[in-house]
Amino acid sequence: MDEIPLVDLRAQYAAIRAEIQQAVARVLESQGFVMGPEVERLEKEIAGYVGTRHAVSCASGSDAILLSLMAAGVRAGHAVICPAYTFFATAGAVARLGARPVFADIDPATYNVAAGSVAAALGREPRVSAIMPVHLFGRTADVRSLESIASERGVPILEDAAQAIGARDEEGRAAGTLGRIACFSFFPSKNLGAYGDGGLLTTEDDELADRLRLLRSHGARPKYHHRVVGMNSRLDALQAAVLRVKLRHLDRWQEARRRNADHYDEMFFEAGAADSRSSLADGATLLVPARPRPPARHVFHQYVIRVPAKLRDPLRQYLRDSGIRTEVYYPVPLHMQECFAPLGYRPGDLSESEQASAETLALPIYPELTKEQRERVAGAVISYFRRSR
Ligand SMILES: *Cc1c(COP(=O)(O)O)cnc(C)c1O
Repeated sequence: MDEIPLVDLRAQYAAIRAEIQQAVARVLESQGFVMGPEVERLEKEIAGYVGTRHAVSCASGSDAILLSLMAAGVRAGHAVICPAYTFFATAGAVARLGARPVFADIDPATYNVAAGSVAAALGREPRVSAIMPVHLFGRTADVRSLESIASERGVPILEDAAQAIGARDEEGRAAGTLGRIACFSFFPSKNLGAYGDGGLLTTEDDELADRLRLLRSHGARPKYHHRVVGMNSRLDALQAAVLRVKLRHLDRWQEARRRNADHYDEMFFEAGAADSRSSLADGATLLVPARPRPPARHVFHQYVIRVPAKLRDPLRQYLRDSGIRTEVYYPVPLHMQECFAPLGYRPGDLSESEQASAETLALPIYPELTKEQRERVAGAVISYFRRSR
C-alpha cells in the first residue's frame, strides 16, 4: 500500500507545475534575485489577502518574529509573554534579544494561550514589553481577551501567525490584523509555503512598517548610512514569484483542508470519539477539539487528535506500520527545553502545556488528501482503539 505522508508537496506541485515554471523563468530572465518588483507585488497581494495596510517581507518566519520584537522596542532585560506550547522560534527570538521569555499555559480546548495565565504572568512581571500569542495549528488565539489585559499596561500584542494565514476569529477578524504587528512564515510546509525559507510581517501602523523595512536591511537609509543596527533579512524574488502563484490557489487549498477536517471529525465522532468539552478523565480515549463557529475560520495547518499519553507513541507506531505518517507537535513544551533551564521552570508549572505535549498527535491534513486516504487514516486510528480496548 502506498505510504500516506504527513504533507505531500509533490502532489501540490504537480497541480501547478506550468504556472510555477513560468514564474520562475520570469525571475531568471530578469536576473534580479533579492527584493525587487516580484517582492513588492507579493507584499501588496498579501496585504490585500490579509486585509492590512502594510505587508513587509523578510527571510523567514523566525526573522519576522525577531524583527517584530525589535520594532516594538524589546531589549535586553525586558520580558515577553508567550505560550509554552508552540514552535521554538516564538521564544527563541525573545532570548536572542537578551530579553526573557515568560511562559504562559494554554487552554486545552483550543491549544492557544490562556488569557488567565497571561494575566497572572503580567501581574508577576514588572518588565513585560510585549505579549506574543500564537495562532496554533491554524486557529486564532483569543486576542480580544488579551487586549483588555494588555491595554491597562500599554503592552503591545504581537501575533505569531506563522500557522494561520487566512484564519479568522470569532468576530470574523483576520489573523494578521489582531495585534500591533503580525508575523507569518512561508516555510514550505505552511499553508502558503515557498520553495525555501520566507517570512512576512503585517501592520496597520505606518511608522512600524517603516521601521520594519529599515530593520530588515541593516538599518540603512540611504544605502551605506546606517541609522540603527538592523539585520539582513530579505525575501528572494524567486520565492516571491512562487508565492504569488500559490496565493492564487490558497483559498481552494484552505477549503480542502477544512473539508478533510470535517470528514475526519465525522468519522471519529461516529466511532465514538469525544470533543474537548469532555475530558480524557471521563474515559474518552480519542479527543477531537470542538470547532469554532462561523464567522470564525480555522485553516487547519494541523489536524490534531488527543489520546492518553501511554497510547500516543504506540498509536503513532501502529500508524507508521500501516503506512501512515504522523508528527508530534510539540513533544517538549518550551519551559522544559534544555536551553531555557536557567529560567528555572519545573515540571508541573504549566501542566496543560505539558499534558498536550504528551497526548497530541497530528494526522495528515494536506489539501490533496483523497477520500480513500482520509478513510484509511481514520480507519487505522479507530481500529487501533478497538484492538487496544
Ligand atoms: C513555522 C513557525 C515559525 C517559524 O517560521 P520559519 O519560517 O520556519 O522560521 C514560528 N512560529 C510558529 C508557530 C511556526 O509554526
